[in-house]
Amino acid sequence: MNLNNLEKYAELIVKRGLNLQKDQILVINSPIECAPFAREVAKAAYLAGAKDVVINYKDELFSKIRFLHAPDIVFEEFPDWQKDFYLTYLHQKAAFLSIAASDPEIFKDVDPNRLSTAQKVANTALKEYREKVMNNENAWCVVSVPTIAWAKKVFSHLPEDKAYNKLFDVILKTVRVDTEDPIKAWDEHKDNLNKRADYLNKSDFSYLIFKNSAGTDLKLELAEDHVWLSALEYTPEGIGFIANMPTEEVFSMPKKTGVNGTVVSSKPLNYNGNLIDNFSLTFKDGKVVDFSAKKGSEVLKRLLEMDEGAPYLGEVALVPVDSPISNSGILFYNTLFDENASCHLALGKAYNVCLKDGTKMSQEQLAQKGANDSLIHVDFMIGTKDLSIIGVTKDGKEQVVFQDGNFAI
Ligand code: ZN
Ligand code: ZN
Repeated sequence: MNLNNLEKYAELIVKRGLNLQKDQILVINSPIECAPFAREVAKAAYLAGAKDVVINYKDELFSKIRFLHAPDIVFEEFPDWQKDFYLTYLHQKAAFLSIAASDPEIFKDVDPNRLSTAQKVANTALKEYREKVMNNENAWCVVSVPTIAWAKKVFSHLPEDKAYNKLFDVILKTVRVDTEDPIKAWDEHKDNLNKRADYLNKSDFSYLIFKNSAGTDLKLELAEDHVWLSALEYTPEGIGFIANMPTEEVFSMPKKTGVNGTVVSSKPLNYNGNLIDNFSLTFKDGKVVDFSAKKGSEVLKRLLEMDEGAPYLGEVALVPVDSPISNSGILFYNTLFDENASCHLALGKAYNVCLKDGTKMSQEQLAQKGANDSLIHVDFMIGTKDLSIIGVTKDGKEQVVFQDGNFAI
């Protein structure tokens, strides 16, 4: 990668990802290893008129030391000042950028009980912040740049510096920074995704039936008044932003109690510093009633037990296997990339924006429409080259939506 490309990437994130407004504050959550890029984004933000930039650095190596050696009690508490940090900037209408880059197995030696306790405590403390961001009350965006530990996992046959540079080049390609005018490339891309969402909205399917040779056979009912969305989303003030870069998905809301059958994972899931792999989930009336995993079974079990809504679905997303990320053939061990190379579902909380007027509804109204609520929202990949999806309308008409892993429409 060259400096020019980093500048282009930072500008793309500020102008299209976050659509940062004049005098707005930008909060960046960044791994400490990614500081040079966080600074580049900060510069682009000030040049675009930001009032201020706040960088919140995370250190996963320190977190590992803490998880391994600190007393139990620290994982049962969440500091008020951290909660205040997020809520203060949330109420000031800041934009939030997260740089997602981690060693996929950083916490593999940590007691899963500690991890799930800490996760639950943090997600409970940050519930208001997480809900408001998921409702798009503030502009938010998730992007990536490599760390060496992550790059070594993706390209294990290469020496550190080569693996790092290669992962950087691949990432820049997936976010179209390798094109002459990335901003224009994104404007075209979001229009294309929007056409797919439009088609699905017009089709107004009641059910989707997923099938492939790996054993997936799932009947998924969509929530009443569901809406299919893609790249471009809006804050209540009408500021359009792109929550994930890259993004290749169109996504919507399953009905909480309307999912039946079995899904088989098609890629490993990096969750909370652990890998869950070769797993399947069986649903009855929306709830996971059986599961198996060749790897990470204990972590998956605790994830499903997080709260009442954790074993129910909150998202269904369609991504063709012929997408640029998928065609790279690379397994990223990072959900931002892997979910955009594959059809996926998410366990846990639904996006209320996936319902018509969903952000204006009370909890009772949302529940009535079939929206799931949970402390978690965890995407997992199910798309394969032979995946077929049939859409069924209210009056029982069937239509092929996906054939051989790609849109048939
Ligand atoms: Zn998704
Ligand atoms: Zn998701």
